[in-house]
Amino acid sequence: MSRKKPRPTPVPPEPLAEVFDAHTHLASCGAGDAASVRAIMDRAAAAGVSGVCTVGDGIGEAELALEAAHADERVVAACAVHPTKAHELTDDVRTRLRGLVADDRCVAVGETGLDTYWITHDPEGTAPLGVQEEALRWHMDLAAEFGKPLMIHNREADEDLMRVLADAPAGLTVMLHCFSSPLDVALEAVDRGYYLSFCGNVTFKRNEELRQAAARVPEDRILVETDAPYMTPEPFRGARNEPTFVGYTARLLAEVRGVDPDEFGVALSRNARRLYGLTM
Ligand SMILES: [Zn+2]
Ligand SMILES: [Zn+2]
Repeated sequence: MSRKKPRPTPVPPEPLAEVFDAHTHLASCGAGDAASVRAIMDRAAAAGVSGVCTVGDGIGEAELALEAAHADERVVAACAVHPTKAHELTDDVRTRLRGLVADDRCVAVGETGLDTYWITHDPEGTAPLGVQEEALRWHMDLAAEFGKPLMIHNREADEDLMRVLADAPAGLTVMLHCFSSPLDVALEAVDRGYYLSFCGNVTFKRNEELRQAAARVPEDRILVETDAPYMTPEPFRGARNEPTFVGYTARLLAEVRGVDPDEFGVALSRNARRLYGLTM
């Protein structure tokens, strides 16, 4: 008789002085109403998390994200239609999204971008690249119109993404969420003044080049995120993620940069507040 070894239940990291989860999905973490949003945020606060940006990646999820942002003052929202679902960006959805982005608690347009991984792995269910690019350009104009930052999802699409982003209207702030690209792309992004947000995969053993990239981002352009419920950092890779665990990634980033984790956590939070235009 063989038994699968049970996965260890993740325990919260040692609390940081402060840290901000710049990209998470509260609804996918099970926060479907105001009480469950507050419960997740209370757990996170005990680990030093002062705030999160929760992301809706379809029109329904975007509406939920905005509701969460209205339910708890520690939560702000980003709204968009995910690149893999770009074919769902109908005229009606564009009108509804515009209404969400106009709300003060929506602080970014995202996640939008390009994703060729799912085009390869699920061609039937994924918007083709041309449709994704058209949607990205529409979101880019929407962000510029409302003066809010653009939050980018990029999976195996570096070259096309950097080409499209080069056309961004002057003054648009760009944030690359779950940054996972090679070092040369990181340096080009830094050169363009983008924010780079690192998530749990930067703690994975094989991702040495990603750690090198994280060490090279200027202190005022680096962010940390969970992208929960996925991408749980080591030592709990594979477990279900939530904002509580962002400190593991923040501590790893502090280590590769050779800085004090508490001071670095404060810098990460300051960057997130500047990016999202928060006074909290
Ligand atoms: Zn993403
Ligand atoms: Zn995400």
